[in-house]
Amino acid sequence: MKVFKFGGASVKSAKAIRNVASIISLYKGEKLAIVVSAMGKNTNAFEEITEALLSKNERMFITLIDERISFHDTILKELITEENNPIYGEIRTLFSSLKERIDQPIDKVPDYYYSAIVSLGEVLSTKIINAYLLQEGFNSLWKSAISLIRTENKYKDANINWEVTNDLFQKNLMTEYDEVDVILTQGFMGHNDEGEVTTLGREGSDFTAGIIAHCCNSESVTIWKDVPGMLNADPKWFDNTIKLDSISFREAIELSYYGASVIHPKTIKPLQNKDIPLFVRSFIDPKEEGTTIHSNTSKDHLVPSFIFKQNQLLVSISPKDFSFIGEQNLSDIFLRLSSLEVKINLMQNSAMSFSILIDEDKVEIKELIALFDDSYNIKYNETLELITIRHYDDETLERCLVNKEVLLQQLTRETARIIVANK
Ligand code: ASP
Ligand code: MG
Repeated sequence: MKVFKFGGASVKSAKAIRNVASIISLYKGEKLAIVVSAMGKNTNAFEEITEALLSKNERMFITLIDERISFHDTILKELITEENNPIYGEIRTLFSSLKERIDQPIDKVPDYYYSAIVSLGEVLSTKIINAYLLQEGFNSLWKSAISLIRTENKYKDANINWEVTNDLFQKNLMTEYDEVDVILTQGFMGHNDEGEVTTLGREGSDFTAGIIAHCCNSESVTIWKDVPGMLNADPKWFDNTIKLDSISFREAIELSYYGASVIHPKTIKPLQNKDIPLFVRSFIDPKEEGTTIHSNTSKDHLVPSFIFKQNQLLVSISPKDFSFIGEQNLSDIFLRLSSLEVKINLMQNSAMSFSILIDEDKVEIKELIALFDDSYNIKYNETLELITIRHYDDETLERCLVNKEVLLQQLTRETARIIVANK
């Protein structure tokens, strides 16, 4: 069995969904498990609906839902010709029970509502696409990912309970392939011990594809994207990007860890553990080769890759009592930082200060200063950029640093990481 993943951009309109169906038809005779995201930017829209519910802003809540109804209705009407198709009623029921939430008491933690509501984006997209596939004569089945994936009892960014999940896939998914060829399911969600909906973190649908492949010992995973594969830089910053034809699991993890946004960083491990290859391919040119990610490392070093992170905040933390930076105050500093749940992009220390680089929009600098004020002095620089170059050489380094002032740099044999400001 092969696993496919189609993200939001690949199912953003009726035309895009027809294209997805034409890709699936290229694999006639194969068993497929297909993971689909919410259409277009719907996840953001459902996040806003959740906020409106939690702040009891009824007018906003209803207006936002009406916008989602009309978005999905337009696509539905373009795809499903038969007016009596049960999909119309299903979608209507789903939206009316969402609307009813405004009259119900809010007696759970906010993240409970977040996952229950935001997951609807994927439920809607897969229901609509499955109705279309059936209409077009595909032998396909809709499956709830919520019931297949067991997570810990945390509603958002929940970790997987692999043992239970594995069992659920064996019992409830693999057995279906006797009857059907294509199973369609949702990305980025699961359920906890209580059977409540949980989510796996934004952009987590790639990870869902990795989970399915791991649990079902799939032959391969293909992530269909609007780019020809993994590129050596984001085309937003570079004119002449190069496609990486073949890279290793290790290299893919390094690149996504440093911020390459083509695949979700959690996707690789479950595949590497079972040596299942991952293909990143274009849904625009589905016959092109794309990128293969596998255990073979022989082509990792061929081209340098560039990752740029904007809007970075460099914070230096120095003990007020002039003590050295050592194990004790480091553990104190980390303890304080973890209470803010900041993700550190880079760190370095000198004798008397510990520096961290974080995304500006993830932290309130005032809050950070207050957190350290009793024992540490805080200095900071804003609007910096972090440049990461894998497999760099002197020439590529020089080229990236034109008109930049270097504040800090870390070079290992494989990777250069440089914090810069514009001159
Ligand atoms: N729809 C979710 C999101 O936009 C999951 C995904 O697309 O991977 O974050
Ligand atoms: Mg998405």
